[in-house]
Amino acid sequence: MEFLRTRRDLPIYPWCEGLIRIGADDTEVWEIPDPEGHWQHLLGLCDGTRADSAIIAAMAAMGVTTEEAQGALTQLREAGIVVALNAPYTESADDERVRGNLAYFWADHLDALAIQRHLETMTITVIGGGGSHFLMHLAALGVRQVRIVDYDRVDASNLNRQWMYDVQHIGRAKAEMASEYVARRVAGAAVQAFNQKLERVADVQAIIRGSDWVFCAADEPPYRMQRLVNRASIAENIPCIYAFSQRQSGRMMEVIPGVTGCVDCLLVTNDGRSPSFRQLVASLVGSHFQPDTPLISPTLGLMTSWIMKRWVDLVTQPNLSRGNAVLRLDFPTLAVAPVSTWARRLDCVTCGDQSNADHALWQLLPIA
Ligand SMILES: [Zn+2]
Repeated sequence: MEFLRTRRDLPIYPWCEGLIRIGADDTEVWEIPDPEGHWQHLLGLCDGTRADSAIIAAMAAMGVTTEEAQGALTQLREAGIVVALNAPYTESADDERVRGNLAYFWADHLDALAIQRHLETMTITVIGGGGSHFLMHLAALGVRQVRIVDYDRVDASNLNRQWMYDVQHIGRAKAEMASEYVARRVAGAAVQAFNQKLERVADVQAIIRGSDWVFCAADEPPYRMQRLVNRASIAENIPCIYAFSQRQSGRMMEVIPGVTGCVDCLLVTNDGRSPSFRQLVASLVGSHFQPDTPLISPTLGLMTSWIMKRWVDLVTQPNLSRGNAVLRLDFPTLAVAPVSTWARRLDCVTCGDQSNADHALWQLLPIA
């Protein structure tokens, strides 16, 4: 038995004599002849609490035959105006907070309730001080089990771009601030904050174990931090998103164990492509210069919103092409393009047979 619900993001309104219109945006508009008001009544009956048989019976009371009502419901479902649910649905107080999420997923012709419940039961680990925007997005999406790893304290220089903090928060541990934010924002949130500097693969593994996804927004020490998180994520079989920022672009890549290449595959590939790559790595590792972060609030907001949108697409669209590309969002034009692609390496020290364990890069970027 199926319960039918008219999508509530679509306005339904009389258009001209004997005609109703559904939808008003530039992509989804239908006009239906409805001289007797039958269609409008039918759409009203599809409120999520009635089975199709009950709706057909109610329409019969108006003189509409079973075949006519059935045909109308089929058309409405095929057009995506009415969605079919496998249980009656009325909005709970918790779901009121995510009404927009549900409307968005239903409008994308997805199983919105299944996706929302999946988000709510996922465990996500966010590593690094750049992750506070990700946490805000995750909380708004309804993710309840969150782990936060950050050893930094809120600094006055964070306030130009990190929306979670106020002047009164300067000096407080970021991990604890983030934990309080998520707990305030999400009903039933279970937040674990790790005010901890990550030094060993085993430490990262212990923290991320059991997570559904990891977000790595930490980039210090350069390359080594991504290697640590990558080694741990591959060992724990957890997909991971890596985020990087530059002045006029944001970059991201996803590593999905068993599906895509990993961070170490990418490093070896870059080393083979550029004769100066190893010199760059050695120089950055050897330098203790702490550059200022050339980001303004809008550019960090653009970058993190873009990455989170892609993550939602990865979670909701099994057929989306994924991995083996560093994607770049160009801030001035908002164009997205792959800037670097690579393949999974069978000899990879982390995701392969480890036969490149003696590669010169690993002397420069040791992890343990
Ligand atoms: Zn690899």
